[in-house]
Amino acid sequence: MNLFLFLAFVSGVLSIPVFNPNTKISPKKRNGLSLKYLYVGERGTIQRIKTSGYWLTVEATANVTERAHQRTALTTARLTKHMPSSIFHSLCVNAKVGVFTKAEGMTSFLEYAAQRDTPQCHQTCAGSCSHTCTRDGRKFSELVGGSGHGLAAVLDGNVMCSDADPYRGQSNILVHEFAHTVHRRALPYSIKNQITSAFQSARQNCTWDIYSYAMSNEMEYFAEAVSSFFNVERLQSAAGGMNTCGHGLCNNENESKNNIKQKDPKLYNIINQVFLNNNETKMANLGNCVT
Ligand SMILES: [Zn+2]
Repeated sequence: MNLFLFLAFVSGVLSIPVFNPNTKISPKKRNGLSLKYLYVGERGTIQRIKTSGYWLTVEATANVTERAHQRTALTTARLTKHMPSSIFHSLCVNAKVGVFTKAEGMTSFLEYAAQRDTPQCHQTCAGSCSHTCTRDGRKFSELVGGSGHGLAAVLDGNVMCSDADPYRGQSNILVHEFAHTVHRRALPYSIKNQITSAFQSARQNCTWDIYSYAMSNEMEYFAEAVSSFFNVERLQSAAGGMNTCGHGLCNNENESKNNIKQKDPKLYNIINQVFLNNNETKMANLGNCVT
């Protein structure tokens, strides 16, 4: 699809008033790094320029295509458009979303500059190179996504479901990392405490597979639940049952929501509040490969 048609399509879905397909985004330099910007506003609007009010920054490294940048903003808009204003405003002030190419890597963002790989640390995480690796021994420079330092970052290949996506379209990493960012940066303590309490109950009751990634800690519990709630996690081993209806994967957003509602109502109520402002009939229509 050419750029004009793509933008027209996006505009149609979200009533974006500001896209001019003839306007190219020129990267702006921030501390030597070239970045391109889009801004997501309340109720799912997307702009190229930050005007007054609250806007969530969606930045892209220089080599990210216009289309991948747009799709990242579109996913972000669909995730945030039904949120309570107070949570959305906290996000705008305390967090950003970023998309990068494989060649540039997540560590090209300034937020991850301290985790950049060096020639001395090539292929090793040992000793003085430990800062270049995650706790489980993966190089930060090679990750598909991350949520540290207030930046929910994702590889363009995952957003586009291209051949460069190591997850092969099975897992929407932006949604997972964005959920972490919301948890860390935008939720009041009262809701964080509810997540802690729901996680402890789920562990005690063996609501979900306690050996799954989702049950490894309360952060992953919330992130896997958000991905499963919106029906964008298709890895059953990761979600520990959160995305499983009967013996197979839940088929759509409604089935996914109901599955969590029936099995873990505390968790359901939290996600319904944080992402849908308690309007449970609202749909995000995300999909693993947003169109
Ligand atoms: Zn995670």
